[in-house]
Amino acid sequence: MTTPFDFEPTASQRALQDEARALAAEVLAPRAAALDREGGFPHDNLARVAKAGMLGVNVPKALGGLEAGAVAYSLMMTELARACASTTVAVGVSNMVAEVVCKFGTREQQQAHVPKLCDGRYVVGAFALSESGAGSDPAGMRTRARRTDRGWVIDGTKMWISSGTDAGLFVVWARTSDGGARGISAFLVPGDTPGLVRGKPEHKMGLRGSTTTPLEFHGCEVGDEALLDAEGRGFRIAMMALDGGRIGIGSQALGIGLCALDAFAAWVRQGPGPRAAEQHVQWALADSAMQLDAARLLTLRAAWLKERGDNFTREASMAKLQGSEAANAVCARVLEAMGPAALRMDCPVERCLRDVRVTMIYEGTSEVQRIVLGRDIARRFGEERGA
Ligand SMILES: Cc1cc2nc3c(=O)[nH]c(=O)nc-3n(C[C@H](O)[C@H](O)[C@H](O)COP(=O)(O)OP(=O)(O)OC[C@H]3O[C@@H](n4cnc5c(N)ncnc54)[C@H](O)[C@@H]3O)c2cc1C
Repeated sequence: MTTPFDFEPTASQRALQDEARALAAEVLAPRAAALDREGGFPHDNLARVAKAGMLGVNVPKALGGLEAGAVAYSLMMTELARACASTTVAVGVSNMVAEVVCKFGTREQQQAHVPKLCDGRYVVGAFALSESGAGSDPAGMRTRARRTDRGWVIDGTKMWISSGTDAGLFVVWARTSDGGARGISAFLVPGDTPGLVRGKPEHKMGLRGSTTTPLEFHGCEVGDEALLDAEGRGFRIAMMALDGGRIGIGSQALGIGLCALDAFAAWVRQGPGPRAAEQHVQWALADSAMQLDAARLLTLRAAWLKERGDNFTREASMAKLQGSEAANAVCARVLEAMGPAALRMDCPVERCLRDVRVTMIYEGTSEVQRIVLGRDIARRFGEERGA
């Protein structure tokens, strides 16, 4: 039996979207400008997000999650990002970490870590994959984990780790043998483990309310129970996690683009004069809304496939690529159409423009998405019915 197309969220998906919209309006939006100006880590926002269960959206209820699914997660991320992109970096990564532990962890690992990720006892989780010179190509990583009779000792340096200042749990990828991707394993490392040193946050152009730090591992000892799945399976875990993560980034980018479009539409209605009658304004509104709608559809399709248990790698990559590029184009176009009004620091558009840029970089740059998609399409296009 075929499944009919249905563009309507279910009642429970809609409920989470509404709840996220309300939380965004009440808590995140009023603080977003100050968070951007002052920088730092959004502790209070995250405590409220955790209280609402939004750090474990696609996690079983038995482990403290909402079990609301990937579509609801995407809708929630967009609503939160429409108010505060910085907060959603930590939210997105933490959800990704919770899902990784659910999917690849043993029962003991799940019970030890997932409830603490969901209810905020860990503050948030973090994803420590990238290194200097090994971002687009994580198989080139140099961080090592050496086996001992008590477990493992990790040595090396990670770069650009979101929430690195405050996360209570890190998934850390390290080389356990030579041999490229097959020599990489993943470990669950609590933030207070001796030998794990959190570096100073980067001073960034955007997402200034999200900390991005290096992490140093100096003889960092963890027990056997820290190894996620089996030795040598880390690269596969990272790639699968990033598939889901890209739905999150597509949703986040969409939210940032909508924030800029909200400001633009408000400015058009405000006047003075009949701004809505000006052709350049109409074109900017039309192109922006259309690009963001296309991004929304691609993102929800990827989330829907994930929720059905189908392969969604290609669709998640398209969602991330389209979402991030559309949102970047929209923020730039809105700024141009509004002129100096959009450059004022009390207007969210200039913040959106700074925040949105990195969506084309993290969790796989646009160039890397195109390479992966291009290879996949060359191999499979036309072989599947309907392609
Ligand atoms: C704010 C922020 C937060 C981040 N958070 C995290 C996090 O939480 N955890 C984590 O593990 N990482 C994180 N990252 C790292 C991020 O995922 C990497 O920066 C990203 O994957 C790019 O890797 P790179 O920095 O090594 O750049 P490079 O790989 O050196 O890329 C530099 C440029 O070269 C291009 N390029 C690279 N290879 C090719 C190619 N084969 N063909 C064409 N062009 C190419 C890239 O597209 C890019 O434009 C974060 C980064 C930022 C900026």
